[in-house]
Amino acid sequence: MTSLGLTVVGAAGRMGQSLIQTVHALDGVHLSGAVERPGSEALGKDAGQIAGIEPLGVNIIDDPLAAFVKSDGVLDFTSPQSSVGFADICAQARIVHVIGTTGFGSDEEDRLGAAARHAVIVKSGNMSLGVNLLAELVKQAAQSLGDDFDIEVLEMHHRHKVDAPSGTAYLLGDAAAKGRDMNLADASVRVRDGHTGPRAAGTIGFATMRGGSVVGEHAVVFAGEGERIELCHKADSREIFARGAVRAAQWAHGRKPGLYSMKDVLGL
Ligand code: NAD
Repeated sequence: MTSLGLTVVGAAGRMGQSLIQTVHALDGVHLSGAVERPGSEALGKDAGQIAGIEPLGVNIIDDPLAAFVKSDGVLDFTSPQSSVGFADICAQARIVHVIGTTGFGSDEEDRLGAAARHAVIVKSGNMSLGVNLLAELVKQAAQSLGDDFDIEVLEMHHRHKVDAPSGTAYLLGDAAAKGRDMNLADASVRVRDGHTGPRAAGTIGFATMRGGSVVGEHAVVFAGEGERIELCHKADSREIFARGAVRAAQWAHGRKPGLYSMKDVLGL
């Protein structure tokens, strides 16, 4: 079997380093490129050294196209604006684009949808098997428990995270809304502050905590009269997202253009 060449964009970031370690450790894939933003201190350095492992002979560059034309796929955990730009270049280079970035606005989502007419994109707010399985359980629970159970989504992440609620919190909220045949955008309550009045029936509430080095913790609470059910996931290491991203690239290689999710990859 030939090895799949993967470029990591955002190579010096928290996820970028984990992706480089994981691509190096797994069979069937190899690091073919590493990209950082112009001005990054990591430019010109060896990707392996930046990731805290042995030198890999791949220097970090700031020209995505130069790296993409030598690759079969791109692993992208950067920023919404950058990911939209990378999607166009991936479409041009006809390679797989795996997007783990979160925090997209609706315009940016539209642009990714347009790029997916020509490119194979796998995008998910959470690339781990555990969270995607949890989303299925949440959907089932929302369906079975009915309207007299209130749904709240709780999340905690490290102090450096820049978007809230997390992409995973939305993914879980969306699963709960689907279980109830609702649209999350119509039902979600993202902030409560001051005299809010009693909880509106049928809403899905979000609560966000930030601090320390927490990789990611999520819970969906179904609160009824006299009982509560909590479904939760705790990430101990970024490696679970990195492994999921590599699996997504392997699954997507050779597929027809489209916007796929981890549910497609995992067959859930
Ligand atoms: P980070 O800030 O540590 O890393 C982002 C990196 O991207 C930085 O090194 C930055 O310089 C680089 N970057 C930004 N713009 C760039 C560009 N135009 N070209 C090349 N590099 C560029 O952040 P992080 O903690 O690694 O998270 C990154 C993203 O991934 C966030 O949106 C986060 O929410 C998301 N995330 C998703 C999952 C998932 O499973 N889907 C898991 C963890 C994190």
